Amino acid sequence: MLLTPHTLVGLAVASVIKDPLIAFPVSVGMHYLGDMVPHWDFFSNTNEEQRVSGWRPLAVAGELSLAVATGTAAVLYALWLVNDPALAFRMLICGIGGVIPDLLSGLKMYLKDLNGLLKINNHIQEKLQFQAPLPWGILTQLLVSGFSALVILGSIAL
Ligand SMILES: [Zn+2]
Repeated sequence: MLLTPHTLVGLAVASVIKDPLIAFPVSVGMHYLGDMVPHWDFFSNTNEEQRVSGWRPLAVAGELSLAVATGTAAVLYALWLVNDPALAFRMLICGIGGVIPDLLSGLKMYLKDLNGLLKINNHIQEKLQFQAPLPWGILTQLLVSGFSALVILGSIAL
C-alpha cells in the first residue's frame, strides 16, 4: 500500500486510542492489515532491480513527501487548532508507526545483510501484500484514506 493511506490509518488510530503505549503498537499492526487490502503501489509486480532504478525511486520519494506532509499537518492541527498536545504526540508516533514496516523494508535495498527483526518484517510484508490492478488498486486505498479521514474528523471535535 502507498505510504499516505498507511499514514492516515496511523493518524486515525492516534485519534481514537488515547493511551500512546497502546496506540503506537496498534498503528504498527494496522500497517500489516493495510497491506492485506488489495492495492497497487509503485513496487507492484516489480523485481528488485526495477525498484531501485528509473522513475520508481523518485515516485516513492514524492509520495513519501506527501505522507510526511499529511502527518505534519495532522500534528500541527492537533497542536494549534484542537489545542491537545497529547493528541499531537500520538499523531506523531502513530503517523510514523503506520509506515515503520515499509521504512524498515526500504533498508533492504541499501543493506545487503539484514539482521533478524528486519528479515522477519520483510518476510511478513511479502506474505501479506495483496496486489490489485489499476484502477481498483488505487480505489481501495482512496476508500481506506477517506474512511480514516472520517474517523479522525469524527473523533476530534473542534
Ligand atoms: Zn507495507
